[in-house]
Formats: sequence, structure tokens, C-alpha cells
Amino acid sequence: MNYFVIGDPVEHSVSPQIHNTIFEYYDSPEKYEKVHVKKDDIKVLVEKFRQEGRGFNITVPHKSNIIPYLDGISEEARLVNAVNTVVKKSGLLMGYNTDIEGFAMQVSHAGCRLQGARVKIIGAGGAARAIAYSAFKHGARIITIYNRTISKAEDITNMLSVANIEETTNCQLYAKVLSDFDAGFCDILVNATSVGLGKGHEEEMPIESLEGILPHTVLFDIIYEPSQTRLMREAVKYGNRTCNGLDMLIYQGVIANDIWCGFGAAKNQELIAEIRRKLLVRKVLL
Ligand code: NAP
Repeated sequence: MNYFVIGDPVEHSVSPQIHNTIFEYYDSPEKYEKVHVKKDDIKVLVEKFRQEGRGFNITVPHKSNIIPYLDGISEEARLVNAVNTVVKKSGLLMGYNTDIEGFAMQVSHAGCRLQGARVKIIGAGGAARAIAYSAFKHGARIITIYNRTISKAEDITNMLSVANIEETTNCQLYAKVLSDFDAGFCDILVNATSVGLGKGHEEEMPIESLEGILPHTVLFDIIYEPSQTRLMREAVKYGNRTCNGLDMLIYQGVIANDIWCGFGAAKNQELIAEIRRKLLVRKVLL
């Protein structure tokens, strides 16, 4: 097994569809699989991978758990404290976080700019950390993080305040409690909570209302199942543009595949459209 994703659970993962489409597109004989791994079994899996694997992805809840077993991680992954992609380089296991660029590519694909933007992020879990870092790295002017547990939002602003990135010296950072949420004064609004995720939770929203949202604000809800959350429907009622999390998922995948194989998948719009089409067809068939 050369390429795979680990998680607990992992059955829901659509990473095999993404990577197997890439391998087929480039006529590669490789196959990508899912592996259900409990936290206590990560060490054994990593040792096996050292012998015979080439690359793997990590999904919830192991993005931080994997770090002690690697030989090195990128500076970005260290700051975000999450690795979602591992590659073997000269026998050493190196960890990366492709959610960071995956988010930036989704924003750009949607015709928006992080450079100079006022960004509000709802949530302060692992995904929010990567997204906040992405916005910071790509030159956001103001980043406000709202979370139920304010200490986690403060952890992110503290992490960014020590991140050494040239373009972002003027970024203003705010951590606020979720009950103080105000939808106004932002260009990009992101739901990075798990509220609204999955069957039976479609009617839940992380906030009470989007009152005060500016007409040009674009809402990115990084949930992709369901494809339109209640929060997205609320934004549409205000006349705002919305995007779900499917493109972020696809982009983090193509970037990971390029780290392993170097095909150039992240720049191949025809392939990315094909992956999107296959994931949408799969959803219709479910
Ligand atoms: P996580 O680390 O568990 O964080 C969950 C976040 O949701 C926390 O901020 C938590 O707040 C908040 N939350 C949970 N229940 C809440 C509630 N009832 N009210 C208000 N806030 C609540 O999860 P994660 O890994 O960051 O993932 C978050 C979401 O992003 C998931 O839906 C995941 O599927 C999605 N995701 C998508 C992509 C993509 O590529 N599209 C990538 C990664 C993740 P507290 O801190 O107060 O508990």
C-alpha cells in the first residue's frame, strides 16, 4: 500500500476518489486507500509505512497525533500544529499541512482576494487554525476569530502574532467570544465550525443571524456535506454569494498529490473539474 488516508472514523473520506482520479488521469498504476487507525495504532502504522509506503494523508482526529512520529514538519504545519500530508523523502518522513493552501486556492477560485481583506472566522478548531494562518499568510488586513471557547480563538491570534511572515506585518488580529458575533464589516466570512455538519443537523447554525452582513461579503462554509448548510441558505436570503467546502477539500488533495508525485495536478484545471464532477456524481448516487 503506497498511498492512503488514515482517520478514526475514515469511512466517510472522499480522498480515494480525489487521488485515484489523479492517478488515472496521469496513467499511473498507483491506488489510494482508506485505513481506519486508532490513536494507539499510529506508531505501528508509521513503522510499516517507513518500510513500504510513499505518501499518506491524515484526517480527524489524528492531524496533531501524527506529529511525534515524523522526522520533520514544515514551519506552517508546526505553527498550525496539524499535519494532513506525509511524504517519504530520502527515507525521512516529512509532514505538511495542505489545508492552508487549499483554502487560499478555493478563495482565489471563487474570485475573491485574501490580500487586504477583512476576514471573520467562526470557530477555532483545527480547520480554523489552518484557515486563519492562510488568511494571515496571504495578506488579510483584519482577522477576527469568534469561538464558543474564547481561549481557543486567543490561541490562534497568539500563534499568528509570533508567525514571521513578511507581507502580514500590518494585520490586525482579534479573538472574540461567539455570542459577540457581528456579521458586518467583513469581506470574507468563514464558517469553520462543525455546526450544520451531517444528517440530522442540517437546520443548525453556529450563530443566530447574519444581520448586518455587507452585500459584497462572500460566505465560505467549509462543510461540504450537506452541500448547502442552513448558514449558506441564510446568506443567500440576504443576497450574498456562498461557497461550500468542496473546493477546499479538492485543492488540499491536489496539493498533497503534487507533494508526493509532482504531476502538477494543482495547476490542472481540467483535472480539478473532473474531480469535482466525480464527487458531485457520487453525492447524487448516494
Ligand atoms: P474541531 O477541531 O473539532 O473544531 C470544531 C469547532 O466547532 C470548534 O471551534 C468548536 O467550538 C465549534 N463547535 C462545535 N460545536 C459547536 C456548537 N454547538 N456551537 C458553536 N461552536 C461549535 O473540528 P475541525 O477539524 O476544525 O473541523 C471543523 C469543520 O470543518 C468540520 O465540519 C469539518 O468537516 C470541516 N473541514 C472541512 C475541510 C475541507 O477541506 N472542506 C477541512 C477540514 C475540516 P469549541 O472550541 O467551543 O468547542
